[in-house]
Amino acid sequence: MFAQLSPAQPDPILSLSLIYNADLRDHKMDLGIGVYRNNHGQTPIMTAISQAEQRLIQTQTTKSYVGLAGSEVFNQCMIDLLLDDTSAHSRTVGVQTPGASGALRMLADLIHVANADTTVWLTDPSYVNHKPVMEAAGLKVKFYPYFDRVTKRVNTDAMLSALAQAGRNDVVLLHGCCHNPTGADISFDDWQAITALANKNGFMPFVDMAYLGFGEGLEQDGAGLKFMANNIEEMVIATSCSKNFGLYRERTGAALLVGDTVNDAQKAKGRLLTLARASYTMPPDHGAALVADILTDTVLTAVWKQELVVMQQRIIGLRQCLVKTLAAKGCDQFTFIADHKGMFSMTGLSPEQIMRLRDEFAIYAVGDGRVNIAGLQEQQIDYLADALIAVTQ
Ligand code: PMP
Repeated sequence: MFAQLSPAQPDPILSLSLIYNADLRDHKMDLGIGVYRNNHGQTPIMTAISQAEQRLIQTQTTKSYVGLAGSEVFNQCMIDLLLDDTSAHSRTVGVQTPGASGALRMLADLIHVANADTTVWLTDPSYVNHKPVMEAAGLKVKFYPYFDRVTKRVNTDAMLSALAQAGRNDVVLLHGCCHNPTGADISFDDWQAITALANKNGFMPFVDMAYLGFGEGLEQDGAGLKFMANNIEEMVIATSCSKNFGLYRERTGAALLVGDTVNDAQKAKGRLLTLARASYTMPPDHGAALVADILTDTVLTAVWKQELVVMQQRIIGLRQCLVKTLAAKGCDQFTFIADHKGMFSMTGLSPEQIMRLRDEFAIYAVGDGRVNIAGLQEQQIDYLADALIAVTQ
């Protein structure tokens, strides 16, 4: 049977990591894979996580199954974190999933069960795995104008006029904050305008919130989503604890379902659990148990929030420092990097320029021009600035 298979297409980002690992140059720089790193190039375990982990080891008495929805305490924590103080809060239910990836797939499967004729609209460009996940669930995919490759900002007019064409058989996927791969976020006004269009034309919003707290902070990053949830009958949300709790390998995330009524939301949750049963059945427990412990303990919550602010501020500092360093060398081509949000920026570098960065300077970035600013160390900024100038002149 295996002989009949054609070889898999390598994932552009994961295969870049393999090439990076094999590179023997001391000064190599990984700005490819989307993980946060500190100034020593490490992705540390957060203190709040370590403390919750120690407590868990002391108090956990069984490894028996938890259930199809995972930890309901965790699910409620995710709803509280994303939708606290909103009217949508009381008509939202959650299901723990293996990362946001699991949530994206389960929600896509649910949408397909509800309406097999659905088209999912993705930002152009979008997270590299959005299209494959939606298509694997049997949904059609279409891209709407989003990133203006000249200004490196969102092309609001083009986006809104395209979304005005979306209707009842459509789902519009939005990035909650810190757009991957571009770093260009929609404004609060845009959230309001898209909510109005959804209400007028009947499409359902699907928000992917993978970087809450990494842009402008927990409150500001979640403001658009909260507004939308408050002012819409139905929507779905995929969320991740990979970045803001540093739990990447623990596969911790949730699918949230906002219903017109709580009964509708519960019904959808039941169907989603049936789909999960036929797939991975139950999500891994460890990461969600840690997050639930942190978010139900005021002291640990404060420790976590403080650590999150440190990561967020570091990214902002790196962005500003890179732009300043380039300016001091007479280059003003990359000023937009200081305005972008979260870990990534789409630089506008061509595949050839990205290859030159790799071959001549041992700097690894994704072929589409995305760089992971959060992978940078302060002492590398000068070298990176020189390399950027070299490949663009
Ligand atoms: N959505 C977006 C926009 C992402 O960037 C990522 C991962 N980088 C995910 C979802 C998947 O996250 P997780 O690790 O929680 O599966």
